[in-house]
Amino acid sequence: MTLRLCGPRGFCAGVDRAIQIVVLALKKYGSPVYVRHEIVHNTYVVEGLKTLGAVFVEELSEIPQTSQPVIFSAHGVPKSVPTDAKNRNFVYLDATCPLVSKVHKQAVRHTRLGRHVLLIGHHGHPEVIGTMGQLSTDQVSLVETVEDVEKFDPIDRDKLGYVTQTTLSVDDTSNIIARLKYRFPSIAAPSAESICYATTNRQNAVKKAAVGADYFFVVGSPNSSNSMRLVEMATRTGAKNSMLVRDVDEIPWAKLDEAKIVGLSAGASAPEVLINEIVEKFQSKYELKLELAIAAIEDEEFMVMRNLRNIELDQSDMAFVNGSDNSGISSKVGGS
Ligand code: SF4
Repeated sequence: MTLRLCGPRGFCAGVDRAIQIVVLALKKYGSPVYVRHEIVHNTYVVEGLKTLGAVFVEELSEIPQTSQPVIFSAHGVPKSVPTDAKNRNFVYLDATCPLVSKVHKQAVRHTRLGRHVLLIGHHGHPEVIGTMGQLSTDQVSLVETVEDVEKFDPIDRDKLGYVTQTTLSVDDTSNIIARLKYRFPSIAAPSAESICYATTNRQNAVKKAAVGADYFFVVGSPNSSNSMRLVEMATRTGAKNSMLVRDVDEIPWAKLDEAKIVGLSAGASAPEVLINEIVEKFQSKYELKLELAIAAIEDEEFMVMRNLRNIELDQSDMAFVNGSDNSGISSKVGGS
């Protein structure tokens, strides 16, 4: 059996930073540290942080009056949330990915220049709620599909700008943007691409690995947008069976005995420890040829906020997600 392992896969710089913020805050302030919404969309990560002392809530109103900090998730929050935290006298730490914050700034910039903002994204996703929440409701409209573009009826067709959610399918989004530009030729693009480097690289690696695969597995949680896009990408690229798995136990091992080529990737919020377990099980069960499908080499790192930088972070603090990497394969470069 050939196992094609995507590189890069798994954690991106924004997810790594957000988890570090929770771990460092627990070291600095002790338990509990409150986290508004899942810090990243991965059940394993959330459960791991709970055992360290993090308490997850959906709304600030669920937190008792406290001097312990509340952390906002990597997806970003509407402007009203920090204001609410201040009104409640909470100390807060914003773990919004810097690339999501950049999209917020670009949306605000469009409105400063008098443009109505079209946000391309998925209704109800926390990142979309956060980005729309930077603006008033009459300043922004959500478009999810090419059909939404057809139906959109602007007040002034020459005063439009768009941004996108960071974790969308690159191909689907370019179709929507093409339609927007066709209908509204003067629509302004954001000054930099909104879909982030991590989303693009992971999708490109899946495109390489999925060709001719009998099975393709993406490690991730069902509410992880970028993980679901990788499953779709594997199917479109030609994998006969593509599926999302939370961990090694969700792999349908009984069906794999006839498989010749299996692809493996992981969404940006899925920890390497889960991928290593899967690779190790493949190695123990089959005579395995390991191939790497490398789309890019990533060296991005995002620093945590200044007031946590003086807290030391040992490798052991992040071992619950990074593991010991027994497979010897680094997720960042796709090869050791
Ligand atoms: S997927 Fe992209 S935008 Fe989201 S946390 Fe990672 S780097 Fe940031």
